[in-house]
Amino acid sequence: MNIHEHQAKALLKTYGAPVAAGVAIFSADEAEAAAKSLPGPLYVVKSQIHAGGRGKGKFKELGPDAKGGVRLAKSVEEVVAFSKEMLGNTLVTKQTGDAGKQVNRLYIEDGADIERELYCSLLVDRETGRVAFVVSTEGGMDIEAVAEHTPDKIVSLSIDPDTGVTAADTAKLVETLGLTGAAASDAQSLFPVLYKAFVETDMSMLEVNPLIVMKDGHLRVLDAKVSFDNNAAFRHEELKPLRDMTEEDAKEIEASKYDLAYVALDGNIGCMVNGAGLAMSTMDIIKLYGAEPANFLDVGGGATKEKVTAAFKIITADPAVEGILVNIFGGIMRCDVIAEGVIAAVKEVGLTVPLVVRLEGTRVKEGKEILDQSGLNVISADDLDDAAQKIVAAVKGH
Ligand code: ADP
Ligand code: MG
Repeated sequence: MNIHEHQAKALLKTYGAPVAAGVAIFSADEAEAAAKSLPGPLYVVKSQIHAGGRGKGKFKELGPDAKGGVRLAKSVEEVVAFSKEMLGNTLVTKQTGDAGKQVNRLYIEDGADIERELYCSLLVDRETGRVAFVVSTEGGMDIEAVAEHTPDKIVSLSIDPDTGVTAADTAKLVETLGLTGAAASDAQSLFPVLYKAFVETDMSMLEVNPLIVMKDGHLRVLDAKVSFDNNAAFRHEELKPLRDMTEEDAKEIEASKYDLAYVALDGNIGCMVNGAGLAMSTMDIIKLYGAEPANFLDVGGGATKEKVTAAFKIITADPAVEGILVNIFGGIMRCDVIAEGVIAAVKEVGLTVPLVVRLEGTRVKEGKEILDQSGLNVISADDLDDAAQKIVAAVKGH
């Protein structure tokens, strides 16, 4: 789960990280009061969307010469004017794709006097199996460009889970970032605090870009991007209210309501499979025969008819889908339940593309009978290989 910058900052603040004062607003009517509650005279109006690159982003509705999604304002009046201009419009950044994202909320923040912009992120390093800091003196701009052109300017440091961030770790980070004076002393608490927040809330990524050294010499978290590990969501009831569904893929939200493991992909063959392993092999074999899957979907072990119906509807709702492959090995899952779910879904949403069904295992005979008697135009297949060839051929039109 991703959250907004203002939420990430509020969370980091509870751990003691230095963040600026700020107020999140949802309508331009709130802009004046928000700005007046801040010290001024410099304010920043920041678009809150789940994507980076907002500063250099462009609003679709405002033309190429308009300012971006993060704007410095020198008065309360300017804050109000920018808020009116930005709210409700669509911001396109490097990370949003061409469609962009609608800005539904803004963060009005105290402006900082910036001396240097640094990069600091924490992530799970799969090679060491540890949480690692990734830091660079080249913050603020596109870190991907730094990684490509000057990779030696990015330094990674894994943290031993038994000790947490040690004095030696902090010293290394301080040296790498060239911190001195007040910034170096702020760093003594900031790095352990970021690590603690990361571990305690089960983040999978925390990116502070930029972390700034201000003109007064102190450090401040100027931007914050956080993703939490969904597999740990069950132990973080307190984080649930932070979810913003307007930022998520509608199909993936629908799937999560039914507890379906669903990931949208770029191909044109919709897949309904049970078991992650079988789902992976199904995608592989579709590729082997020269086509591309439109999704990964694991309906799970003991799926109900309702769950199967929901899954089928999610697949057919994707306009890119030109054919559907149902591949079920009935163990705990029963083939007749799958068949009923498919029929129920087709009754509701219709079937305009070829459907290949391969059923095997528990109650396979009943499942096949249900499909045969339904009058649906189902192409039945005997095994995985046969099924994949049939759906690829059907989609390619021969
Ligand atoms: P994004 O990474 O999405 O572009 P940031 O929050 O990093 O958004 O903002 C972009 C740039 O705007 C920063 O690199 C910084 O130069 C400037 N900026 C952001 N917040 C402030 C602030 N509170 N005070 C002064 N400048 C800011
Ligand atoms: Mg940033």
